Amino acid sequence: MMKTTNKRQLILEKLKAFVPNGFEEMVVNLLFENPVSFKIVAPRTTKLGDFRAGMNGEKSQITVNGDLNPYAFLITTLHEFAHLKTFLEFGHRVKPHGEEWKSIYRSLLLPAIDSGLLPKDILNALVQSLTNTKASSCSDVNLTRVLRTYDKPKEGIVLLESLPKNTTFVLQGKHFIKRELRRKRYLCDEISSNKKYLVHALTEVKPLI
Ligand SMILES: [Zn+2]
Repeated sequence: MMKTTNKRQLILEKLKAFVPNGFEEMVVNLLFENPVSFKIVAPRTTKLGDFRAGMNGEKSQITVNGDLNPYAFLITTLHEFAHLKTFLEFGHRVKPHGEEWKSIYRSLLLPAIDSGLLPKDILNALVQSLTNTKASSCSDVNLTRVLRTYDKPKEGIVLLESLPKNTTFVLQGKHFIKRELRRKRYLCDEISSNKKYLVHALTEVKPLI
């Protein structure tokens, strides 16, 4: 009994560095109420977090990038817990972001929305993502955009969408020229190979001035 309390307290303290003030209990409860291995990991550029279903009696695993701002960390965590709870209830019989997942995600977000502790712009983006059936996926562009505004600015780095057309920028050591928008991605010319690439509007790039 004593041991559990200590462990809970320890995790609570650790989470303070990652989640917004007032949400530590919510996340600790999720950790203790569900069979899951929860890991805060080194940042990955391709995803904010992920869920891996446990096979053959193994625990399922959730990972969340450790460099996320507190709001992005909280919402990514709730998103991944919605995957876990969907898996525990329905197994692999339902779609990853189908109706079952949405309903569980909504039930996890509502206490956060009702808490009065989230900034208004994040609140609006969350409510919008819950009502817009298309948007509730791993890549809700509007929500991502709002959450990004809470990141600490990185020197010389901007989002691709903020650059004027025909600007040259560097991404992963290669030079590109930004061209026109195709849905959520920009057509970009890679200068050395003259090949065309589609780069997501919210990719962090370094413009050449
Ligand atoms: Zn997802």
